[in-house]
Order: sequence, then structure tokens, then C-alpha cells
Amino acid sequence: MDRETQNRMDSDTRLRMADSVPRADDLDAEDNTETEGPEPEEECCDEASPSESVVRERSSSLPPTPRECDEPTTRESKSGTAQPKTEPPCPDADKPPCPDADKPPCPDADKAQSAEAQAAQPADAQAAQPAGAAGPTPDSTTADTCVARKPPKLRVLVDMDGVLADFEGAAFKLWRATYPDEPFVAPENRRGYYIKQQYASLRADLGEKMVGIYTTAKFFTDMEPLPGAIDAIKEMTQMADTEVLFCTTSLRTFDNCLPEKYGWIRQYLGPEFVDKIIIIRDKTLVDGHLLFDDKDTITGLKEKPSWEHILMSTAHNKDVVLPPPKQRLESWGHDWKSILERKRQELACNNVQ
Ligand SMILES: [Mg+2]
Repeated sequence: MDRETQNRMDSDTRLRMADSVPRADDLDAEDNTETEGPEPEEECCDEASPSESVVRERSSSLPPTPRECDEPTTRESKSGTAQPKTEPPCPDADKPPCPDADKPPCPDADKAQSAEAQAAQPADAQAAQPAGAAGPTPDSTTADTCVARKPPKLRVLVDMDGVLADFEGAAFKLWRATYPDEPFVAPENRRGYYIKQQYASLRADLGEKMVGIYTTAKFFTDMEPLPGAIDAIKEMTQMADTEVLFCTTSLRTFDNCLPEKYGWIRQYLGPEFVDKIIIIRDKTLVDGHLLFDDKDTITGLKEKPSWEHILMSTAHNKDVVLPPPKQRLESWGHDWKSILERKRQELACNNVQ
């Protein structure tokens, strides 16, 4: 082989070798072809992206992580394949297990148990709960439970003249001492609330003379307590959940009446009772549950007072016929406690919501 022929053969060999080695721009072209090609069809037609499918596929090969709220329930897919049921988010581990996702959320378990326990108690036990004790609050009441709140403190209003203090006895005594020769009305024969009118019926001028008797200085101071009145008031004041107030009227000529009524309460009951005095001409405006009063008819601006009137029996009202269910107390020696208890029970019943 001559030299020229050898050189030509070497050149052809180098050219063939150069064509068989890929160049850099040829490699880039191959990569672009792979990424821009059509994506392979997914076997699963759900909405998960291919990357999520990969994660799910990998996760399915791992043992399931136990969850307290998982229920071992499955549901059939359209294709008949058992698919895991979609679970609600797992709540805090300290809370009760998840309710059924198809049901409305459970009420607060603590409140429900408290209402059930309260409803199971006797009404008396519920009423006897002290203030601040664990019990239902108004917002814990449910449609199918009925609970009683603590009844309010029983407020008893007590008149003074003819209920605590012997007005009639003091008037008769001073009348006889002042006018020993004038006609008089014996205490047991008194009729009608106003003593002035009955004396005036004896003789016209005797009415004003009687007014002079009970407006005399120290008339109210010298009144004797009615039998059993002081002990009853002291005992009533000590009763649980009971508030006693003195609800009395002043004379229009009040110069002696007012200070003497305050002094009378302080003398027979003590200075701590002075704060319980209410001086008012219209007793219908005073809030209370019971009013012990010797006046048979009490009217005022309020057509329906909050209190129930208990007529305190005395000579001037003994012929008054009370319409039922109006009640009277014959004296403080009679059963005044049952009247308070009856009223207390009424309040408890009315307090059931
Ligand atoms: Mg009176």
C-alpha cells in the first residue's frame, strides 16, 4: 500500500469514530424529548397527583398508624372495591372519642351529666342547696329536663300597731285616765279599723278627743308589746333564708310618732333591728312575700302587691269575713311558722323552670 492510500484510510477511520460519540447538544436534545412526551395514563382515576399516588402507594406498604378515633368501618366504592371510610379529624387525645361523623356533635358531656344528676335529685334536696353550691345554672337547662333554682330568701313584712304593739290597749288606758267621765269603748268592743270613727259615733266631738290621745307625747313609747310578739320576731329573724322587715305607717302629725316608733323597736328588740324599719303610707309599694297586718283592707298605687296579706286578728277586725284563700293569724301564740313554711314552699315551686 502506498503512502497516499494509507493516509486516506486513516482519515476515513477517524471520521467514523467521531460520528459514533454523542455530542453535548445531542444529549440535551434526548432529555427534552423524554420530558416533553405524553404522560403515562394512571391506573387509578382518582384526583391525586402522580406524586401523591406514589406517596400513597409507598405508605400502603407500611403498617397503619393506630388512631383512637378510627372506626373499623369500610364502604363499598362504585366499583365494589372496599375503600377506607373518610374519617373526621382526630380530636385531642384527652377528649372523648369522636362521635359518628354522620351525627351532629355531642353536647358538652360534663353539662349533660350534671343536668341528669340534678334532675335525679328530689326537689327538696335541690331547694336546700346552699348558695354557691354546685348546681345547674339557667343555661344548663335542656328542653327535656326541669330543674329548680334556689328560691329567694323569704321576706316577711310585719306591721307595728296592732301586730307588735298594743295600740288599742294603750289608747283605752290613756282615754280612761284622761277622760274618766266620758263614754268609752271597751277594747273587746272595738269595731272597724279607725278608732277615731267609732268614738265619733258615740258623740261627734269624741273623735277628735281620741286623736288627741294617740298623738300625745310618749303614747307610742308606752305601748306594750302584744303577747308573744317579741319572741316570735326574734325567732323569725333567726330562721334560715328569712328576712324580717317592719312595715308601718306614720301619723300625719308625726312629731312624736316617728321617733317613738324607732325607740320602741330599739327598746324591745334591740338597736340592730332599727335598720329594718320601713315607714311608708302606701305598703303596696314595698316588696315582700308576706305582710302581717291588722288592717283588713290594704290598697295603694300598686293594684297587685308582691306580698300576701296575713290579717292579724284583733278586736276591731274579728267580724271581717275574709274571702278565700286569704288567711289570718289569731295571735303570735298560734302557728305562724306554718304560714312561713307554706309560703316558702310556694316560692320553691314557682321557682321551677
Ligand atoms: Mg296596724
